[in-house]
Amino acid sequence: MASLSDLPIRDDLRGLTPYGAPQKHVRYALNVNENTHPIPEDVARDIVESLARAVLTANRYPDREFTTLRESLAAYLGHGLGPEQLWAANGSNEIIQQLLQAFGGPGRSVLGFPPTYSMHPIITAGVGSTWVAAERDADYEISPETAVRAIEQHRPDLVFLCAPNNPTGTALPLETIAAAYEATDGIVFVDEAYAEFMPKGQPSALTLLPGRERLVVSRTMSKAFAFAGVRLGYLAADPAIADALRLVRLPYHLSALTQAAAVAALSHAPEMLAMVDDIAFQRDRMVAELPSLGFHPWPSEANFVLFDGVEDPQATFRALLERDILIRDVGIPHALRVTAGTAAETDFFLESLASVTRR
Ligand code: PMP
Repeated sequence: MASLSDLPIRDDLRGLTPYGAPQKHVRYALNVNENTHPIPEDVARDIVESLARAVLTANRYPDREFTTLRESLAAYLGHGLGPEQLWAANGSNEIIQQLLQAFGGPGRSVLGFPPTYSMHPIITAGVGSTWVAAERDADYEISPETAVRAIEQHRPDLVFLCAPNNPTGTALPLETIAAAYEATDGIVFVDEAYAEFMPKGQPSALTLLPGRERLVVSRTMSKAFAFAGVRLGYLAADPAIADALRLVRLPYHLSALTQAAAVAALSHAPEMLAMVDDIAFQRDRMVAELPSLGFHPWPSEANFVLFDGVEDPQATFRALLERDILIRDVGIPHALRVTAGTAAETDFFLESLASVTRR
């Protein structure tokens, strides 16, 4: 059998590691920040009926412009957005890839603020761009001054921000986004994969879109919306951004089945999002209870909690796995990340963590 090094692969891909969240069949899968609540049965039935209708015309290519889906997404997001400002792809990962194909590519650079979503540097490398890592402030925060200083120092073609940030859960002030935008002539990309878990009334970067044609805000149906298996991510931006993405997307990239499923699910948005408040409650419960077990949780506005004070993260990870719980070692020393799920999952996680780390 050949190994990668035997193949004539691009030089800049040699030695890189692929995205590798472990995929294991466990009872308590709390490692990739999904919504662990299943889709309500009546909604599932409605989605299946839409899929059945879509299958009947699947001899034809799907709507290349996914018009109905863009209308549904615009209606869901609100903020006065029109369908021409929406664009969708197979997960927000593909949104990021298309954005980088259009605005990055070989010879261009992307500035990010680790620790952040691990796919940002990986997709950057995949299109041949250079990932430039800038420092965060204390407590994983990014002040406007810190963002501006990094942009002035590195002059990137794209600035990547993540709000709330994965894997830390840290909120990002709109002032930082606005200041970053003023400091660059490039694209400012805000990954809002976890926006629905933010405290009620906290403004999204969507509010900054008017008058900022280089600002791009992405969302996903994979997290709060409980639709990770369908693969539907989207962005909101100036319509000219969608024109740029039309140059690089593959024709018909969103299958008729994906479009039908997403439109049907969006028509049931309140039911699909019904568990979001409870998930946020479980997250806050973990933040409140972890200190009594001797850990330090970071404040989180997403559906997961990063906690440190873990003597040996790999040992704790393995001990939890023996109890059928999968969480995430994100490579931060003495820290682990856990997804907020149901009350029962949270109970079992906290009890198990207490027993495997009792000193
Ligand atoms: N952005 C962030 C910050 C994420 O954490 C994730 C998933 N872990 C994604 C984007 C990708 O989500 P998807 O491709 O499923 O939309």
